[in-house]
Parts: sequence; structure tokens; C-alpha cells
Amino acid sequence: MNPIEHLLIGWAAANAVTLDRRDRAIVTLAGVVPDLDGFGIIPELVTRGTNHELFWWTDYHHVLGHNLTFALVVAGLAAVLGHARPATAFLAFASFHLHLLGDVVGARGPDGYQWPIPYLLPFSDRWQWSWNGQWALNAWQNFAITIPLLAWALWLAWKRGRSPLELVSTRANDALVSTLRDRFGNPENHDAGEGT
Ligand SMILES: [Zn+2]
Repeated sequence: MNPIEHLLIGWAAANAVTLDRRDRAIVTLAGVVPDLDGFGIIPELVTRGTNHELFWWTDYHHVLGHNLTFALVVAGLAAVLGHARPATAFLAFASFHLHLLGDVVGARGPDGYQWPIPYLLPFSDRWQWSWNGQWALNAWQNFAITIPLLAWALWLAWKRGRSPLELVSTRANDALVSTLRDRFGNPENHDAGEGT
């Protein structure tokens, strides 16, 4: 799946229970972090056609970051860094696995390559996740998933005053929230007005 989908799915996991801003960031990032292994694309492109070609993207994308060992490292970090420890660690672990699942169902490359997930690395490469029905990275299914997630994220921003923008800037988040509330009314006023 694409980074926006991973981010929105991570954000959904982060809002499954009430967490504070830092813990929401941890759970959301856990849903994106497997793709850190994709940064090898930069040296690979830079060295393409030279005498010292590096195949770090070809060799390591969906390998280094997409396995149970790394998931446990991420959950461990979440347990150390999070405030709501068991909940944040568990949701970070779940968020990470939603990323893997998303890649299995919808990340077929333009060349048709399935990018199987070697779940038990580095201990074994026996168990590789893949699915015959896997759709392409740019297939309609990914849009069909992105649009409701985006609509829900906007609703949550309007209702609860938080969005994934808070990961980078609370000011950007607040600007979005007030724009939505100017347009659609302030849900806090609505709640207060109910029953009168
Ligand atoms: Zn991935």
C-alpha cells in the first residue's frame, strides 16, 4: 500500500482507544516504519549504471523492516517511550501488522512482482506471506480504502480536534480543526446545546 494509506491506517489504530498525543504518534509511526527499508532506493538510483551498482532497494525493501523481529523491536520501543504502556505497545504491534497485511493485499509492483513478506527473518526465510489476489499499488482498491479513511480522519479532526497533522505540528492541526469547525459548526457547542 502507499504511504498515505499506511499513515491513515496507523492513525486509525492510534485512535482505537484514548491515548495522548505522544502515544498516538508512536502507534501511527509503527504503521509506517516498516517502509524505512525502502530508503535503499536512493543509493540504488544514484549508483545505477555505474561500476558499483548497489541493489539496496531490490534486495532489502520488504525484507529488513517487514518481519516479526522488527515488529517486536518496535513494540519494545513503544513500551519504553509510551505513556500508556501496555496499550501503546500492543497497538503499535497491531499497527505494524496492519502495515504488513496492507502490503500483502495491495502492493503489487508495476512489474507484477508481489514483494512477499519474509515474516520470520532473520531466523528463517521459510514462511513468506503473499496472496494470489494481491492488487497493484495504484489499483482502485487502494483509492477505495483511502477515501473512507480520509473522510473518517477529517470527521475525527472536526469532532475531537485531532488529526495526523499533529505529528508534525500542533499549529497545522489546530488550523485544520478550526477550518472544519468554521465550515461545519463546532461539535462542542452542539453537544452543549443538546437537550435544551
Ligand atoms: Zn511496506
